[in-house]
Amino acid sequence: MSSVFDDLVGQEHMIDILKGAVAASRTGSDSQEMTHAWVFTGPPGSGRSSAAVAFAQALICPNQGCGACNECQSAATGGHPDVEVIRTEGLSIKVEEIRELLTRVAWAPSMAGWRVVVMEDADRLTESAANALLKAIEEPGTRTVWLLCAPTLHDVLPTIRSRCRHLQLRTPSIEAVTQVLIKRDKFSPTMADFAARVSQGHIGRARYLATNESVRSNRKVILQLPLQLGSLAAAFQAAQTLVDIATEEASASSESRDEKEIEKLQEAYGKGATGRGMATGAAKAVKELEKEQKSRAVRRVRDSIDGALLDLATFYRDVMMAQAGASESLINSDMRVEIKSYDSRFPAHSAVQKMSAIMEARKNLAQNAAPLITCEALFCRLAKE
Ligand SMILES: [Zn+2]
Repeated sequence: MSSVFDDLVGQEHMIDILKGAVAASRTGSDSQEMTHAWVFTGPPGSGRSSAAVAFAQALICPNQGCGACNECQSAATGGHPDVEVIRTEGLSIKVEEIRELLTRVAWAPSMAGWRVVVMEDADRLTESAANALLKAIEEPGTRTVWLLCAPTLHDVLPTIRSRCRHLQLRTPSIEAVTQVLIKRDKFSPTMADFAARVSQGHIGRARYLATNESVRSNRKVILQLPLQLGSLAAAFQAAQTLVDIATEEASASSESRDEKEIEKLQEAYGKGATGRGMATGAAKAVKELEKEQKSRAVRRVRDSIDGALLDLATFYRDVMMAQAGASESLINSDMRVEIKSYDSRFPAHSAVQKMSAIMEARKNLAQNAAPLITCEALFCRLAKE
């Protein structure tokens, strides 16, 4: 029989625990297997929120997560009254949002035995928001299950994480990702192999790459940048190129959505309504939404630059592999010739230094450094030997 857990590639260790918890949750007793708060950790793209949503489905499904029934399907698409998935695209989750959430979930579950809240990006909770949430998690006897997702356990406030059961996602093997892309998503073996290899076990990123021609060609441009750093002027140009590509990729996905959101909001307020109170209310709401969209766009661009820098790092990683005589394990095996020629021009330790320069730039960007200046400084370092 198929199950909602089938899609969690390479997470067998976790699936056993989750199935045990679902089984225990049916007995009604408060057993050790079933607890009210869980943290799923793994890097973005590792499928931590897919794991949490699958668990939510299994908890409310009469067949322990068949994936086919009404309950399972409405939970996955956000239509189930007892399952709430909190997706934050802003830079932080504020205390007002948590308070509002808490009033929404204060009621007993309406259909299922549990009310489940999946919170993607629990690392974005502000401290006061986290404290408000903590009170809810500590409350005994509720039928609400909290599934928090974060990159690492350290990204969750200690007081919260000490009350949660922790599950760590593993990075699936490239082979496992390739197989999923072929069997489930019906990509050709060549495409599946390429996408799985260059996205290093991130199934979401692999699927995105395999689906989007423009994303693949952008990636190619990024990987050519190390070969074009002959002068300082070229380094500045390369930084600009990277930021432009990342910005374009990020805005391509948000623009149409932003417009739709505003339109929907105006409709909700009655578009063209002339009543004075109505008009100011709508204007205020639209203004707030635009502010949120702006902060979301900033984050998208940052995430996109981060992705481009990770791609860039794979070039230097491959140079190191080639130097170590392990050419068969190149990520960018289609660039074998370029990597070889680059390798012969620079001393052996330089690729290591360049990789750590990239990681440093990513860290600075994560702490809100200005993107273009950060990339310019980076490429100037990459241009040097
Ligand atoms: Zn089901």
